[in-house]
Amino acid sequence: MSSILVAGSLNMDVVNRVSEFPVPGETITGRGTAYHPGGKGANQAVAAVRSGSTVTMAGAVGLDANGQTLVESLKNSGIRTNGIIKNEALTGMAFITVNDSGENTIVLSPGSNGAFAPDDIREEIIQEADIVLLQNEIPWITNFAIMKRSVAYGSKVIYNPAPAHRVDPTVLSWIDTLILNETEAAVTTGLNIGNHQEAELAADQLITQGVKNVIITLGGNGSYYASHSGESLHMPSFKVEAVDTTAAGDTFIGAYASALHSGQSRLVALRFATAAAAIAVTRHGAQHSVPHKYEIETFLE
Ligand code: ADP
Repeated sequence: MSSILVAGSLNMDVVNRVSEFPVPGETITGRGTAYHPGGKGANQAVAAVRSGSTVTMAGAVGLDANGQTLVESLKNSGIRTNGIIKNEALTGMAFITVNDSGENTIVLSPGSNGAFAPDDIREEIIQEADIVLLQNEIPWITNFAIMKRSVAYGSKVIYNPAPAHRVDPTVLSWIDTLILNETEAAVTTGLNIGNHQEAELAADQLITQGVKNVIITLGGNGSYYASHSGESLHMPSFKVEAVDTTAAGDTFIGAYASALHSGQSRLVALRFATAAAAIAVTRHGAQHSVPHKYEIETFLE
């Protein structure tokens, strides 16, 4: 069956609310703790499955209870979890502290994600995918190996280099769509991205280097799209009351991959992704805020 493969991170997000951040050496009492399934890989997989695609997740969790919980939560979302292995490390965690002003600090503990090796993913999992979605929360050598094998099988690679680090130029011509936010585009190209013109320059540079399609997301300013065939456009965001922009990018990327997978044009996929992300920012949380296909279609009516 045709499917999207997301190879990436699964994290348990541990969110602590505090009135103010503690200073070094200080102990404070928090306002409460919550556990939420997260990780860019898992978030994008949830966005793609809720947008209507068949999705397989590949990645790694530990033998601990968090690992079990994360796999169960993806299964309950309808994601095929047969690409997730268990390794000796602790399941990845993100320790997030949010103060009363809504600012946050995040300590990422990659754990099992950081030990997900090229040989941990079975050949048939890669072979059966038409679209392969990757981020930067698993080791680069694993991403590299998956990209190379995907391209050999004729799959489309969608790559979101987040958290940002410079992209190995070898892979640029393997990428069908590179999706980056302003920070990631700045790190990847070495250019400052503060406005549309600068986003255009960055996208042009990446197209010249061999990427087929580039999307630079610009938060509330929408996104800029450019392709190797010379098309380009600025997609404005939908005007909504944003309450929490967590996972806006992950929602956008999963929804874009899904629309493309269902045979939509790039323009229709961009509009669908923009609507999905607009709905997500009107809701609190990460995976919790990701909309379903019928909600996105209703929003676009
Ligand atoms: P990331 O979450 O990776 O930093 P962005 O902040 O660029 O990504 O957001 C991704 C997409 O989400 C944007 O291109 C836009 O379509 C949508 N979006 C983000 N912020 C808003 C907002 N305030 N209002 C409407 N849409 C938004």
